[in-house]
Amino acid sequence: MLTSRPRGTNDIIPGEVEKWQYIEQIIRDVCCRYGYREIRTPIFEHTELFKRGVGETTDIVEKEMYTFTDRGERNITLRPEGTAAVVRAYLENKLYAGPQPVKLYYIGPMFRYDRPQAGRYRQFHQFGVEVLGAHSPGIDAEVMAMAMEVYTRLGLKGLELHINSLGCPECRPKLRESLQEFMGPKLQDYCPTCQDRFERNPLRILDCKNEKCSQLSAGAPTILDCLCDECAVFFHDVKTHLKELGIDYVVDETLVRGLDYYTHTAFEIMAEGIGAQSSVGGGGRYNGLVGQIGEKDIPGIGYALGLERILLTMEQQNVEFPPSWQPDIFIVTASPEAELTVLKLLAKLRGMGYKADKDYNGRSLKAQMKYAGKLNARYAAIIGENELENGTVMIKDMTTGEQKEVADNKVTEVLGGK
Ligand code: AMP
Repeated sequence: MLTSRPRGTNDIIPGEVEKWQYIEQIIRDVCCRYGYREIRTPIFEHTELFKRGVGETTDIVEKEMYTFTDRGERNITLRPEGTAAVVRAYLENKLYAGPQPVKLYYIGPMFRYDRPQAGRYRQFHQFGVEVLGAHSPGIDAEVMAMAMEVYTRLGLKGLELHINSLGCPECRPKLRESLQEFMGPKLQDYCPTCQDRFERNPLRILDCKNEKCSQLSAGAPTILDCLCDECAVFFHDVKTHLKELGIDYVVDETLVRGLDYYTHTAFEIMAEGIGAQSSVGGGGRYNGLVGQIGEKDIPGIGYALGLERILLTMEQQNVEFPPSWQPDIFIVTASPEAELTVLKLLAKLRGMGYKADKDYNGRSLKAQMKYAGKLNARYAAIIGENELENGTVMIKDMTTGEQKEVADNKVTEVLGGK
């Protein structure tokens, strides 16, 4: 073989692909019922879009982008996430000029130069939604409700919705000040990285994995202590909407998203994994992002989940998938004279919506029956010389082994309606 697939990529082959199609079909159905329309943006964009739209100081932009210069000397990046491109498309296609909000969803491959490991790839897939042009806390609740519905419909168990508020540019300086007040007296006991962050971004100190730093930060003020009146009311309203919708949630003050354009609601959904709970998706409000990309003051909220992670969690939880492709009927013949009759019957059945197939490799009658069995065909239709002469077909129920001869125009009666 000339080469294998690039590291961190996967082939999704028949047998697996049906699981993907099943997940995608549920996603599309839920989106449709909530009034979210699909958007398909390019797989690659100008690099600066992600630098601006994802954030210069994020791991994604600093370390993980697939960036190259194309033949026209343009700086191009394979998309590492969906939101920035959707916001660009919203602006570029002037979707803001139509009725608001615009509720969009996407499903597709994303690319990150990550270290490949279980559930972490260089090409992976995300489903995401973005709502642009709506301020109301009701839409935050809708996005969360819809996400929960997707997981429930997929059959996931042990679901928990974690929510937080990140405030707004008004309340962040207050948090910064409170954190500095809290940490300042003990600053010399923190690690050098935290000391370095103290002035620039004390919020990041709360993320430090160093045990001593975590201990020192225990009991530190949180954003919820510092919300301005408007943000506090907004958060209260989001929670009220969730309660009204009967959606349980846990307020998790440690839930943060690092960038300035995130505002108000942040959320994450956890599901039962093997032994521990794991995150199966998350999102939040980004009222500052459209302004970063297009100088328009338009609010937004979004959410994304990784399809590989969902599939893995479904498999861990033994969720049952529908069976993979299997023919309703497999037509068997060992008689060269019957070939034309078989082709016509096959075309007729397919035309009526049945999944029908035949052998193309000159197998013996016995081998064709075995092949039909391997394909899990529901019925086999045997056309031998006798049947050809009589204008009949021998139908074998592959589950019970029962056989009966029927007129060739009565085959569909045995198969059941379509
Ligand atoms: P993020 O955009 O980093 O918030 O990630 C959203 C979701 O995408 C995560 O919950 C993961 O399930 C998935 N994801 C992110 N990076 C990868 C990756 N390298 N491989 C597979 N899934 C990923």
